[in-house]
Amino acid sequence: MSTLLVIAELTGRDLTESTGELVAAAQSVATDGDEIVVAVVSDDPSAAAVSAAGLGGDRVITVQHEALADMGVGGFEAPVATITAISNALSPSVILFSKSDFGTNVGPRVAVRVGGGFAQDCIGLRPGSDGRIAVTRPVYGGNALAEYAFTGDRVQVLTVRQNIFESTSGDTRSPIESLDAPAGVGEIRARLVETVAEESKGVRLEDADIVISGGRGLGGPEPFERLQALADTLGGALGASRAACDAGWIDHSHQVGLTGKSVSPNVYITFGISGASQHMAGCSGSRVIVAVNKDADANIFKDARFGVVGDWEKVFEGFQAAVEDLAVS
Ligand SMILES: Cc1cc2nc3c(=O)[nH]c(=O)nc-3n(C[C@H](O)[C@H](O)[C@H](O)COP(=O)(O)OP(=O)(O)OC[C@H]3O[C@@H](n4cnc5c(N)ncnc54)[C@H](O)[C@@H]3O)c2cc1C
Repeated sequence: MSTLLVIAELTGRDLTESTGELVAAAQSVATDGDEIVVAVVSDDPSAAAVSAAGLGGDRVITVQHEALADMGVGGFEAPVATITAISNALSPSVILFSKSDFGTNVGPRVAVRVGGGFAQDCIGLRPGSDGRIAVTRPVYGGNALAEYAFTGDRVQVLTVRQNIFESTSGDTRSPIESLDAPAGVGEIRARLVETVAEESKGVRLEDADIVISGGRGLGGPEPFERLQALADTLGGALGASRAACDAGWIDHSHQVGLTGKSVSPNVYITFGISGASQHMAGCSGSRVIVAVNKDADANIFKDARFGVVGDWEKVFEGFQAAVEDLAVS
């Protein structure tokens, strides 16, 4: 029997959808007798712990300390020390983080502290031949998928891409236990002084079911307002290529790709994006890609299920009118 430790992902003090996805990821590789434990670390974990108890894990463990406030936006020392202490107490075989800012920063640090192996941005998990977990992750900017096995019996620390696993819910509620925060967790060297909330309306890019993305082919900042309006109508989110962000047409928080955000919506619609490998690295997990580009040889058409060769503005206007008709009828 081994323990699979899921690290709850919070926005403020609320549990995010991706925690349920991590529980689903753990369930996909758990064998009989394995235990799935969800750890909630926060300055006030009570509400998130109640939500986590309904996800179908076996146990929820909470650690409360004022130094764990705002864990998702900075001040990583306290969560690293706390999760390391939880790992030392439970000796898990696997620790799962979400591939978020928090998981990307805290996951590798915890891996070093616990002497574990680390794999970032996993999009597939399966039981390996040696009783350990093998993981699949994109490499070469998303152009290839590689499967990794872990050698030895060190704890496997993973970040799992969001929107790959379907979030779980359990029929019963799992028990909630609390652990003491480790000694010295409040003695942090770097302190988060201020948090400036990113202004965003509507759904988060990473959580959106529909993403509409624009690139350099849009020619300027104004078209992004039109794409945003359409994304709002569809209940989706606005993405962008790095070229468009670098040009200052749209904030970098919208950037999708290798050095931007990873998205896996049901539908990813691009206007004026060439489909460079670094862009595709962030959207190749989309169920359906729709591309609009005036160049029939644009790389994006290799990955697109549906494509239109033509001027983005004309196609956009027709598409927008069709969406508005549907919204009215
Ligand atoms: C280390 C590294 C990391 C990177 N990380 C990222 C990343 O995270 N995200 C990212 O996006 N890029 C990233 N890049 C940059 C990437 O290589 C590309 O340069 C970038 O994605 C190109 O953006 P684009 O498709 O908008 O622009 P372009 O490549 O210039 O393509 C514009 C497209 O618009 C089309 N077009 C032009 N006019 C119209 C029109 N009127 N109607 C329809 N189509 C039109 C053109 O045919 C063309 O295909 C990275 C690069 C490096 C080296």
